[in-house]
Amino acid sequence: MDSSNSTKQNNNQFLNEDPADVDNEFCPGFKDVDAFVKYGLGTVVAATKASASLPQVGDEYDLYRSFPGFQEFCETQGDGLLHCMSQIMHHHGCRAHMRDRNKLTGLEERFDLVVDSNDVILEKVGILLDDAAGVNRSQQPVMPAGFQPPKIVVSSWNRKGGDSGSGRSSETFRLLQAKNVTRPQLKFLEKVDNSNTPFTPKIFVKPNAIKPLPSCKSLRSRQRPEDLDVPAALADFIHQQRTQEHVEDMFAHPYQYELDHLALPENLLSKPEPQMYKPLAETKCSFIDNLEDLVAVNEKLTKTSEFAVDLEHHSYRSFLGITCLMQISTRDEDFIIDTLELRSELYILNEAFTDPAIVKVFHGADSDIEWLQKDLGLYIVNMFDTHQASRTLNLGRHSLDHLLKLFCNVDSDKRYQLADWRIRPLPDEMFQYARADTHYLLYVYDRLRVDLWEVGNGQPALLQMVWHKSKDISVKKYMKPLFTEDSYMDLLRKQKKAFNTQQLTAFRLLYSWRDKLARQEDESTGYVLPNHMMIKISDILPKEPQGIIACCNPVPPLVRQQVNELHLLVQQAREMPLLKVRHAWGHAIHWFFLQPEIPLFGPHDTSRVSESDFPSFTPNGKIYLKSIVNINSVVLGYSQLNKRICTLRLLSELSTKKGALFSDEEQEVDMHKMMGHLTVAQQKAGRVVESFQNPFRMYLPSNDIHISKNAKFDPSTKIYEISKRWKLQSVEQQQKEVEAKKKVKEEAKESLKPGGKKRERVASETGESTPKPNKKLMKAAEKKNEDSTPPLVFKPYDYSQSDFKVFAGTQPHVFMFYLTLKNAKAQKSNACAGNRSMSFFGGKSVR
Ligand code: AMP
Ligand code: MN
Ligand code: ZN
Repeated sequence: MDSSNSTKQNNNQFLNEDPADVDNEFCPGFKDVDAFVKYGLGTVVAATKASASLPQVGDEYDLYRSFPGFQEFCETQGDGLLHCMSQIMHHHGCRAHMRDRNKLTGLEERFDLVVDSNDVILEKVGILLDDAAGVNRSQQPVMPAGFQPPKIVVSSWNRKGGDSGSGRSSETFRLLQAKNVTRPQLKFLEKVDNSNTPFTPKIFVKPNAIKPLPSCKSLRSRQRPEDLDVPAALADFIHQQRTQEHVEDMFAHPYQYELDHLALPENLLSKPEPQMYKPLAETKCSFIDNLEDLVAVNEKLTKTSEFAVDLEHHSYRSFLGITCLMQISTRDEDFIIDTLELRSELYILNEAFTDPAIVKVFHGADSDIEWLQKDLGLYIVNMFDTHQASRTLNLGRHSLDHLLKLFCNVDSDKRYQLADWRIRPLPDEMFQYARADTHYLLYVYDRLRVDLWEVGNGQPALLQMVWHKSKDISVKKYMKPLFTEDSYMDLLRKQKKAFNTQQLTAFRLLYSWRDKLARQEDESTGYVLPNHMMIKISDILPKEPQGIIACCNPVPPLVRQQVNELHLLVQQAREMPLLKVRHAWGHAIHWFFLQPEIPLFGPHDTSRVSESDFPSFTPNGKIYLKSIVNINSVVLGYSQLNKRICTLRLLSELSTKKGALFSDEEQEVDMHKMMGHLTVAQQKAGRVVESFQNPFRMYLPSNDIHISKNAKFDPSTKIYEISKRWKLQSVEQQQKEVEAKKKVKEEAKESLKPGGKKRERVASETGESTPKPNKKLMKAAEKKNEDSTPPLVFKPYDYSQSDFKVFAGTQPHVFMFYLTLKNAKAQKSNACAGNRSMSFFGGKSVR
C-alpha cells in the first residue's frame, strides 16, 4: 500500500480530498475500499496495456534490440521491475531472489517464484476475506480466554517402540502449531488401535451379567502370546480361530442379552414426584482423577437409584476421537471425572452403569453410548434419555439448554460445547460448564416424566415409549470406521460430485492417502485434509505442488509436509487415460453395483455372484448375457433374480442409448454423462426393485444363504477383508502386488491342473507385500482348511478362476470368511447361559 501511495498523485479522481474525512479514511488517501480498488485496478490495467504494446519476441523485438539504447533501457527497466517484485515477495515472506539469477536459465525459475508467491498472497487474501466475511473455516477447538497452551510435544505417539519399519525418517517429524495441547494419547496405557479392523469390545469383566462374557474376552489380548505385534481385533480373531470360539460373540454387544431381557422398571408405572435440584452453591462438586476417588464414586453410585451422566469428547486431533471428561450428578453431589487420566480404570463403573436397578439419565445419549464403549469399555443398562422424552412430548426444541431454561430457568452457555476438552488442568469456566450439563438433569428427568405421565392421560404408555427408545440407544454398538476400496465412493456420493476418471482416481488416491496418514498419525481425517479441499484438489488436478497448496486454505500441516507425496498422487491420476470401452464398462459395473441405495450385489456378497452372471460385451458394443438363469439363481430366490435382470436391463438400455460410447473400443468415455445417467437409472431400478415381492420367499430356508441381511452390515462379517485391509499399502506396494498377482494367477491356473497345489499358492498370493499378522492369519485359515471336511450346503465358488475386478485378490479372504461362518454355525448351539453374577477374573487388571 505504501508503494501505491507514491504513485497515486497521478490518479486524483479517486483521492479523498475532504480534509475533514481524513480520520475516517480506509487507508491514507482513500476514503473507502471501493476507491482503493478502483485506483488499483486502473493502475494494473494501465500497466498491462503498456506491457502489451511493447515489441514482442520473434516480431519487432529483435529489430529493436539491435539498437543499444533500447537494449539498455530494457535492462534498467527490467532490473527495476525485478527489484520491485523481489521487494513485494520479500514483504510477503516468500523466496525473493529475483535479480541475481542467471539471465538465461533463470527465467523459468523466476516464473515459478512468481507463481509461488502469487499463490501465497492469494491464500492470505482468501483467509482475510473469510475472516472479514465472518466465515470461520477453522475447525480448531475453542480455547478459553487467557489460556496458555502447554509445551508442544513432538513425538511419534502411535508407533510401537523399535518398529521403525522401512518408512522414511522424515515421516516422524511433524509440524505442530503452538495452539496444540499435549496429546493425551501419549499417556494412554493401552495404545489407540487405529488399525483397519472392526472394533472389539474392550470389556473383560462383566458385572451384572446374566449371560457371561465369551471366554476369549475374559483374557486380555495382551496376555496371549500371539498378540504381541497385532492389533486387538486381529488378535481376537486369531485367538478365535485357534479356540474355535463363536465369532459373533467376539464383536457382539456384551450386554445385548441383558438389554434384550431388561424388565420395565417399576417406577415407570406410577406418577413421579419431582425432587428439586440442590442449588449449585450448596452442592459438593469433586474433580476425580485418581483410582481411589473413582472407587469411592462407584460406591456412592451403586447406592443410588438414579444418577445423571454426560461426556465431553474431542475429535479433531485424534483418528477415533477421545473421551475427555465424564460428568456424573447424583441428587446430592456432582462429580467431574478425568477420563483421560482414568481411561484404563473407568471400567469399574460398569458395576453401577449396568445395574438394571439404577436409572442412568442422559441427554441425547447416541454419541455418549458409543464413546463409552470405544474409550472406556462402559455400557449402560437401564437408561432414560431426556432428549427422547422431549421429542416424545413434542416440546419443539429438544436441546439441553432449552430444557434447562424451561424447567430450571437456567441460562446455559453452550459456548464451551466445542471447547478443546483435552486441556489440563481444566480451566474453571470449562469445569463449571461441564458441571451444569448434569447438575440439573435429574430434576429435568423428573419434570419430563411428570409431563409424559400427564400427556399420556395418567397412563405409563409414553414413559414406556421413551424407555424403549432409550434402550434402543443403549444397545447400539460402536463401529470403528473401516477403510474399504470403495469408501471413497460413499463420500463422493454425498458430495454429489460428478468426476471424470482422472479426477476420480485422484480422489480415490487422496482418500486412501488421507485415511492411512490419519490412522498412522492418530489425527482426524478432517485435520489431515478436509473434504472440501480433497474435492478441490481432485477437481482441479493441479500440475504443480504449489497448486495443491493453493487448493487448501488454510493449508493443513500434513498437506504442507507431504505436498510432494500428494503431487505424485495427482500426477499419477493425471496419467490415467480417460477410460476406454472395456474399462469403462468394468468401472461402471463396479461403481453401479456398489451403490448401497439399491441392494444389488454387495461387492463382498459372494453368495449372489458368479462370473457368468455379469454381462459381457462384444467389441461392437452389443450386450449379451452368458447366462442369467443358472441353478444358483433358483437358490437365491426370485427377487434376487429380478434385481439382477433389472440391472442387466438397465445396462443394456444404457448401451443402446449411449451406443456410440461403447461401439468403438478406442473411444473415450465421458464419465460425467455416464454417471449422471446411471444415477437416473438407479432411481428407476430402485423403484422397480422395490415393487417386487418374492412369491417364493416362504419356500426359502430362512438361513440358507450364507450371509444374513444384517450380517452384511456387521463388521464382523467383513472379517475376511481384514487381513488385506488392516494395513494400507503404499502405491508402489500396490503396483508390485498387481504384478505379483498376475504371476500368481498364471501359476494358479497351471496348478489347477490335476495334482496342482492350488490352495497353497492362492493363500500366498498376498504374502509378499502384506504385513506379518496377515501371514499368520493365512496360515491359520490354511490349517483349518486342511482339517475340515468339504461342506454339504455350500460350495465356495472358485474365485481363482475369475478375474472380475470386484474380487481381484480376495480369494484367501473369501475362503476365510467362509470358514468363519462355518465355525460360527457349528458353535451356535454351544451358547450357554450363566447366573446373574459379577465375575472378576483372577490377577491384576492390565487396563
Ligand atoms: P454435550 O452432550 O452437549 O455436552 O456434547 C458432548 C460432546 O459432543 C462435546 O464435547 C463435543 O465434542 C460434541 N459436540 C456437541 N455438540 C457438537 C456440535 N454442534 N458439533 C460438533 N460436536 C459437538
Ligand atoms: Mn452429552
Ligand atoms: Zn456435555
